[in-house]
Amino acid sequence: MKELLVISGKGGTGKTSITGSLAALAGNKVLVDLDVDAPDLHLLTRPQSSRQEVFVSGNYAQVRAPDCTGCGHCQEVCAFEAVALEENGSAVIDPMACEGCKLCVVTCPEEAIDFPERECGRWMVSDTRFGTMVHAQLYPGQENSGRLVSLLRQEARQLAEQQGHALILADGTPGIGCPVISSLSGTDLALVVTEPTLSGVHDLERVLELCQHFRVPAKVVINKADLNPAMTGQVAEACRRWGVEVVARLEFDPGFVQAVVAGRTLVEQLPQGRSAGELRSLWSRLETMLWS
Ligand code: SF4
Ligand code: SF4
Repeated sequence: MKELLVISGKGGTGKTSITGSLAALAGNKVLVDLDVDAPDLHLLTRPQSSRQEVFVSGNYAQVRAPDCTGCGHCQEVCAFEAVALEENGSAVIDPMACEGCKLCVVTCPEEAIDFPERECGRWMVSDTRFGTMVHAQLYPGQENSGRLVSLLRQEARQLAEQQGHALILADGTPGIGCPVISSLSGTDLALVVTEPTLSGVHDLERVLELCQHFRVPAKVVINKADLNPAMTGQVAEACRRWGVEVVARLEFDPGFVQAVVAGRTLVEQLPQGRSAGELRSLWSRLETMLWS
């Protein structure tokens, strides 16, 4: 089984639009949206959930007000200023500020502090017109996105094995943070989508460095390549320096936005257009790279 991960150095490069079109072109696969902080592949795939699960990670402290004497000890020991004392004398802990160190829980003289698990988000298995999709939504302000990414990848792999699929097609997180690191390790091929801007070159090089570190082969797509030919040349030069092949140069196409508005992928929306043709060629090249 092969895993193809589509990533980008920053948001707004067209990564998800390209992933959506690849999803429409590739058969025999499970789709997974690993951009758990800001997922948007569902806008193109319109998934119908068949299974929903809570994502739990870590714990937080919670005072049982009737048992609290208001001694203030928990406020003194908390290094994260998560505890406030109410006018009625009992302590209240802000769950967003609590780091779950448990110090207040074990030192409260009245044993008045519970330590429940923290619900950080939800993850789903859904049906789409492109096959099964695994995706999630992390709640605002929650961390541990790396753990959630690992969980989604594991679930996608299990489903692909059960359903006899040969490919996991993953839409990754922009940037080089924890979720990207969790997405990259052990993947077969990273397709890096970039655009011809100065920051695009800088962000691309950071992602390529990460791919090299994890020994994941990378290929590059330059999106909107015609908007700035000089910068496109610089992107290509950066790829040469890193020994990475540019596998597609897509022209700026307002059809991508039309397709998103229609809740479809570009290859469905404008199948006869130039971009759809380029995306079909791209998929054909990726197929060869993955299975040759
Ligand atoms: S340490 Fe325990 S008893 Fe004292 S204020 Fe905090 S929760 Fe209440
Ligand atoms: S568990 Fe730790 S971080 Fe959370 S309120 Fe208690 S002392 Fe503060």
